[in-house]
Amino acid sequence: MRRATPERLAFSALLVACFAWLVAYPLYSHNQYWQNVLFFAFLFAVMASGWNIISGYAGYVSLGQSAFVGLGGYTTGIIATRAHISPWWTIPIAAAVAALVAALLGVVVMRTRGHSFVIITIAFLLILQLVALNWASLTGGSTGTTLPLTSYPREWQNTPFYYVMLGLVLLSVLMTWAIRRTKFGTGLIAIREDEDKAGAVGINTPVYKVLGFAASAVLVGAAGGVYAYYLTFIDPTGMFNILYSVFTVLAVLLGGRATVWGPILGGFLIELLREQTNVHFGASSLNLVIFGALMAAVVLFLPRGILPTAAAWFVGRRTRGVPGVAEGALDLRPGLALAARPEERPAESSILLAADGLVKRFGGLRAVDELSFYVREGTITGLIGPNGSGKTTAFNLIDGMMRADAGEVRFEGRRIDRLPPWERAHLGLGRTFQITRLFRQMTVLENVVAPLRSFSLAQLAAGAVAGHEVERAQELLDFVGMSRFAHAAAGTLSFGQQKLVELAQVLMLDPKVILLDEPAGGINPTLIERLVEKIRELNAMGRTFVIVEHNMPLVAELCDPVVVLARGKRIAAGSAHEIQRDPLVLDAYLGEGWTVDEAVTA
Ligand code: ADP
Ligand code: MG
Repeated sequence: MRRATPERLAFSALLVACFAWLVAYPLYSHNQYWQNVLFFAFLFAVMASGWNIISGYAGYVSLGQSAFVGLGGYTTGIIATRAHISPWWTIPIAAAVAALVAALLGVVVMRTRGHSFVIITIAFLLILQLVALNWASLTGGSTGTTLPLTSYPREWQNTPFYYVMLGLVLLSVLMTWAIRRTKFGTGLIAIREDEDKAGAVGINTPVYKVLGFAASAVLVGAAGGVYAYYLTFIDPTGMFNILYSVFTVLAVLLGGRATVWGPILGGFLIELLREQTNVHFGASSLNLVIFGALMAAVVLFLPRGILPTAAAWFVGRRTRGVPGVAEGALDLRPGLALAARPEERPAESSILLAADGLVKRFGGLRAVDELSFYVREGTITGLIGPNGSGKTTAFNLIDGMMRADAGEVRFEGRRIDRLPPWERAHLGLGRTFQITRLFRQMTVLENVVAPLRSFSLAQLAAGAVAGHEVERAQELLDFVGMSRFAHAAAGTLSFGQQKLVELAQVLMLDPKVILLDEPAGGINPTLIERLVEKIRELNAMGRTFVIVEHNMPLVAELCDPVVVLARGKRIAAGSAHEIQRDPLVLDAYLGEGWTVDEAVTA
């Protein structure tokens, strides 16, 4: 939770003073040079703020941000030269066009990530530039287009656009701030942290990304429109300028990624630097070398950017000597003894989850090979097998992280193997990971409220960490004994603690069945005890589990039935006592140094 620290108050006062000065400046000074510098600073601030949404929040690094300036500029230019429409209409149209094209681009590039995404955004920018160059009848081609002058008096010609651009800066800040406080914002950050995991906890990632794109472009499109009026002349190289994309990226990295004010600060700094290097080195291309060096310096010495570094310094100074949350001792409540036998279930319950003939090939390897098994409601079903026998892959096929090459998955009688992961989550399928996959830069509490049990557009605007959800998340954290870490960054927890938080996270989905992938792997015995106790409690309340685990005493005590895999195939199924006599099982485990007999009697 944010408190009004002296630094925070000072920062706010500084911002208000800066804003007041920016508003007053054209009124008392007619210095065209500085007005021009400020105008460009606003432009870069708006571009950086938009970029921050898709690239800072959602982690999709784009080099196409200046495409939206060009789109906005040309939309405005094309309309203004053909119809007598006031700028106050053309600029919103420019915004809408940019947002729409961004959304379409989002749909098209949906499946690419990382480097290929960056390349596609550059291509997108260059293609638009080519279109503007070659569609001369519409755009004027390489000779450009001259916009009609506005009727404002000469010495005030640019002042209205100065204020509109300043207004767009303010809107950008508001939008960035608002997005961070909604489900939309945490969804985007979840995508940045781990997109597949975001899908697994019910976040409809394509919709989030497309809307994130639109949000990152809308105000930049408007800014492009304002920019076109300001220049009164537009041409393809000026409007679709890849250098501006680079400045945008640099501005955000410099100011602080995924912060509200970082991109604004960065935009101002970049413009000042650009002016200075133009003045001193403009004739040569040395100014670009300087920008390159700056980029390298930021990455090396200020990897987080100015504002986050400054904030960390202030926090560090204030809390020096106060023990961090992660250092606090664990409160361990007495766990149930591992040795308690699960009660015999009387009648057979209905089948909740069924895998039927599942096949997954990786090249020549059949990781899952004609695998069929079912999970009855209310059971804790074990899934065991030597390393590499396809257990994790089977989970991936069931929860939709991977598509099966053949076979079916049915949940409550319904086929789900064609559904995307978030829809499977919405139906009541929860899953934890062998190597925990929390959103490391979010707090524990944010992690636990991140899962979504359904999708609606209204949900995007809902508070990120608000309402009943927080109470429920607190309860769940309490339940797994992790509530004291609610405000710690998830990445600072120990592996075992992360496993417990991931359990709380998946419970937030209120799933009917929970797939646990090696819940006890790599965690200390006290935490294992707590985990087992929690699984038992949840099962007693009617929740179904499928557990992949190497800890055989735990499997023997907790799971019934147990399904045994070897080389992707099911080789046995039955109670722990039944499978221990199965020669196939003993054979599969031969050389692994394990027999069920030993495990059960251990
Ligand atoms: P388990 O969880 O039972 O240890 P996995 O399902 O992780 O086994 O792996 C089964 C086999 O498939 C292993 O041989 C593994 O190397 C291979 N495998 C798993 N995931 C991939 C992947 N994404 N690409 C290629 N091979 C994979
Ligand atoms: Mg595995």
